[in-house]
Amino acid sequence: MKRAANQHQEDLNLNNIVSLQFDKAAKLLKLSPGLLQQIKVCNAVYRMEFPVRIGQNYEIFKGWRAEHSQHKKPVKGGVRYSEFVTQDEVMALAALMTYKCAIVNVPFGGAKGGVKLNPRNYTVDQLERITRRYTSELINKGFIGPGVDVPAPDYGTGEREMAWMADTYDAFHPGQIDNLACVTGKPVSQGGIRGRREATGRGIVFGLREVCQKQDDMKSRKMAVGLQGKTVIVQGLGNVGYHAAHFLQVEEGSIIIGLAEFEGGIYNPKGLDVKKVFEHRKNTGSILNYPGAKNFSDSSKLLEMECDILLPAALENQITAENAPRVKCKILAEGANGPTTTRAEEFLLKKGILIVPDIFLNAGGVTVSYFEWVKNLSHVRFGRMEKRRQEKSMTELLAALEELSGKKIPEPMKKRLSYGPNEVDMVNSGLEETMSEAYQEIYNTKQATKGCDDLRTAAYVVAISKVATSYLELGIFP
Ligand code: NAD
Repeated sequence: MKRAANQHQEDLNLNNIVSLQFDKAAKLLKLSPGLLQQIKVCNAVYRMEFPVRIGQNYEIFKGWRAEHSQHKKPVKGGVRYSEFVTQDEVMALAALMTYKCAIVNVPFGGAKGGVKLNPRNYTVDQLERITRRYTSELINKGFIGPGVDVPAPDYGTGEREMAWMADTYDAFHPGQIDNLACVTGKPVSQGGIRGRREATGRGIVFGLREVCQKQDDMKSRKMAVGLQGKTVIVQGLGNVGYHAAHFLQVEEGSIIIGLAEFEGGIYNPKGLDVKKVFEHRKNTGSILNYPGAKNFSDSSKLLEMECDILLPAALENQITAENAPRVKCKILAEGANGPTTTRAEEFLLKKGILIVPDIFLNAGGVTVSYFEWVKNLSHVRFGRMEKRRQEKSMTELLAALEELSGKKIPEPMKKRLSYGPNEVDMVNSGLEETMSEAYQEIYNTKQATKGCDDLRTAAYVVAISKVATSYLELGIFP
């Protein structure tokens, strides 16, 4: 069960935690109290209870959709299916979405939705009925639509749920040409975009690549520059954790030494093959007993093992005042939203641990969701118009070079150089550019802002300043 406080009497309410994070950064900015309050408050929350037939009975489900900031429209944010969802949590996650979108220059306000249920307790057919009913509730109250509010996957939901949502929206709005843009994270065959499934994990890797390029931050923590050879422990092998761990291993040469899931954890200082562990879990129902790895029945113990990068990618409140004194990583990379409590953060910062905040690090998902929304509204796949044109001009250029130099360019080199980008290449390139630019901005803000000593506060300073500009340029606040 999720608790409001632990034995350290620590406040575990994510809404309160986000509020404190906001206040810490707001103090460093010269903005009027009214404007700051407007940026901080949640603009609208729709709480619903709806019946769905489960077996012979009807079950009543609790659901929410919070629209934190409508300073830009549509608002955007995932839908979470978890038995622990609360209104406060949904509001907090919606606020994080506002700040996240501002940081990565995605022109949306923040939102979040949730239904209180454990998806494991329902059949696919029942989940479909719950999702369609939740969507029709959102339609009834105007909390979904391509120009209003655009949901996406989050904990406990995925492409399947997004396809059901899009289909339900379409049934209620026959003949409206932009209907597909009402949700993102859809399967490619249903208007999704290539690269969205792995986008949050890939974005984490692009983000960490930037972090580990900073000589000063690496040197002060006695680490080499770059991700190559860095030891990593990941909590949560879901959409975010799996892809981040996989790309860190196969594309960056990091060593995944520990993986933690809710059934237990596995550890091997020589490294784990993430894809094989995933297959092992699929075949046996558990990550435990993976060949060559040590089992941990309590997977939270892995959060306390020595490593370069600790990547919590499951849920909030994982690093608390209880375990923070035993955390031994050098970089805490927040893949999940809100994994670190306020007291834990104070403790980790004092120890010199570099905390890479959620509002930056997991923004790859919303970045590529934005690309998907643009694709749906433009009704054409990225790369479709220009791929062949680019290939042709490059081929012509290479032929001219050969003619002028009198030398033959080797065929494999020609093939590589004349390759025109397709949709996934363009998505990944846009994502890399976004994460890189966003990190430079946060890093530079940290250096330039007096009293700003950590990356989270710097990220909030960036986000609040950008949202404030939207209001100030409208002349709403003096
Ligand atoms: P998911 O449902 O795909 O995966 C979560 C995984 O965590 C599951 O495999 C689950 O079994 C595991 N888990 C749950 N409790 C655990 C525990 N106590 N210890 C270890 N493992 C545990 O969810 P996701 O989409 O990967 O989201 C994970 C986190 O990332 C959430 O905080 C979510 O809000 C955040 N996030 C997700 C996205 C996205 O695009 N999906 C984008 C940004 C942020």
